[in-house]
Amino acid sequence: SKPVVAVVGRPNVGKSTLFNALAGGMISIVKDTPGVTRDRIYADVSWLDRDFTMIDTGGIEPDSKDIILSQMREQAQIAIDTADVIIFITDVRQGLTDADSKVADMLRRSAKPVVLVVNKVDSFEKFMPDVYEFYNLGIGDPIPISAASRLGLGDMLDVVISHF
Ligand code: GDP
Ligand code: MG
Repeated sequence: SKPVVAVVGRPNVGKSTLFNALAGGMISIVKDTPGVTRDRIYADVSWLDRDFTMIDTGGIEPDSKDIILSQMREQAQIAIDTADVIIFITDVRQGLTDADSKVADMLRRSAKPVVLVVNKVDSFEKFMPDVYEFYNLGIGDPIPISAASRLGLGDMLDVVISHF
């Protein structure tokens, strides 16, 4: 069967925007409200000659006691357990947050290959200096992308498929 790639990260970092850019249709829901994607959503994606299944998730808010957010965290954990490769998305506009570090810890425990992506790098010239702090997560080289502008997606996918 096809490899499974899960997209995880805090709410509002752009998981669904990336998912939709790669799935080529409006399969997932993108809103300004954090955490609107409450279900795992699947799409078939191809890159070069490799086919895989991508899972969007509702987002991980590590310490939330909120019932919806804790359900989303459980779903993200299920997606992580199901995945062969994990795309971990962060947001260059918000910078590195405590919640990102906690998600990184969760991913380290999974021992699965993680591709660290820094989204919302709409201009490489303007935002690249802010990408480097994500090395502090200790989970690999941060890959700058703009899901909304579809920048950097090819370089990101090259790294994803290198783990199959
Ligand atoms: P999710 O909660 O992680 O699934 O995040 P969404 O995909 O729903 O996106 C959250 C917000 O970030 C929306 O307002 C998106 O339009 C915005 N967004 C997503 N990707 C980008 C990007 O590459 N650049 C910018 N500037 N905004 C983005
Ligand atoms: Mg979403």
